[in-house]
Amino acid sequence: MQYSFFLPTQVIHGENCVRDNAQLVSRLGKKALLVTGRSSAKLSGAWDDVVAVLTDAGIEYEAFTEVEPNPSLANVTAGGNRAREYQPDFIIAIGGGSPLDAAKAIATLAVNDIPADELFSNQFAQRPLPIVAIPTTAGTGSEVTPYSILTDPKQETKRSFSVPEVFPVIAFLDYRYTMGLPVSVTINTGVDALSHLVEGYLSLRATDFSSLLAQRGIELWAQCIPALKAREFSAEVRDKLLVASTLGGFTISHTGTTLVHALGYSLTYYHGLPHGHANGVLMGEYLRFTAQSTPDRVEKVLGWLGLGSVDGFIALMDQLLETKLELSEAEIGQYAQKAMKTRNISFSQGQPTEEDLRQILSASCR
Ligand code: NAP
Ligand code: FE
Repeated sequence: MQYSFFLPTQVIHGENCVRDNAQLVSRLGKKALLVTGRSSAKLSGAWDDVVAVLTDAGIEYEAFTEVEPNPSLANVTAGGNRAREYQPDFIIAIGGGSPLDAAKAIATLAVNDIPADELFSNQFAQRPLPIVAIPTTAGTGSEVTPYSILTDPKQETKRSFSVPEVFPVIAFLDYRYTMGLPVSVTINTGVDALSHLVEGYLSLRATDFSSLLAQRGIELWAQCIPALKAREFSAEVRDKLLVASTLGGFTISHTGTTLVHALGYSLTYYHGLPHGHANGVLMGEYLRFTAQSTPDRVEKVLGWLGLGSVDGFIALMDQLLETKLELSEAEIGQYAQKAMKTRNISFSQGQPTEEDLRQILSASCR
């Protein structure tokens, strides 16, 4: 198989890395648009660091602070309109995956006056503006991916667009911004990171390069299991979760995600389950299914996690994710049908059929 390996994002890691690397930001231009959710950018401390850097460098800025969780097309349209009025040279995204993904859409709409649903064409006349990404959750890895996942009410699901130009140019990883994350958000986002690492490792598109990153991410994540179970997070654990999450982003930027994400989108869209939680509910049965075609690789994943079996994995997820979801037969049929239409399915091992997806859903949502 031919493949390329491309990681264009400069990753700067460590405490205080934003303020210590102001010169990298000042090279990007004289006007910045900050893109954030409603409150966590400020609460995390990242906002103050960014504003200090911009002020010292004489960079003018404005902010779009209205990104909602699981941003919709209407939400990024509002951000795009703001950007076209202000005409920034670059975008600084601060937050979880939602503001980071919204920033990719806004960076594109800033220079392309198109309806937001045309983002999914992945073809733009003008190159999106450069993006600096500062994650405040340790989950999506969006700071190093070319994906932007948006909620499309017309199609009643989440859809993604992806072009290499929306890979952030710089990702600043400072675990201190994740110290105030509530326990439930820490766990849900942490499970999302794990799902990227595991799905990426088990993807049909995995390569030696992506698998190396996935393995290291899973090993780091495994070191955090005692803290995740105890629901107490030291600085060291926060840093490990953040690095594991970025490794997950690097992994899926090459492999894509698989059937877990494809099915999980319906659990989020129709039942409001946070994204990582939705993946965590499905991952155990996905491992059982995948072990039928790729037992060696599933065994490796379980081994790196220090778990002896798929049942052990499911017990861990049950312990971490407290709420359960029960689905009706009609819901199971509908979500399996929807997932079959996604590209993610074709990246899954074992050529899953619609019936396989129904079985995974019904065994997971019991
Ligand atoms: P999120 O939706 O960005 O944030 C969830 C909640 O956590 C929000 O209420 C947010 O508040 C809050 N929060 C964020 N950082 C915080 C902090 N440091 N302290 C306290 N609260 C904080 O969650 P996410 O799981 O990181 O992102 C999920 C989105 O990413 C989904 O749309 C998913 O589909 C997408 N995703 C993208 C990729 C990719 O490759 N691009 C991969 C996987 C998932 P505020 O609203 O105030 O910010
Ligand atoms: Fe995800």
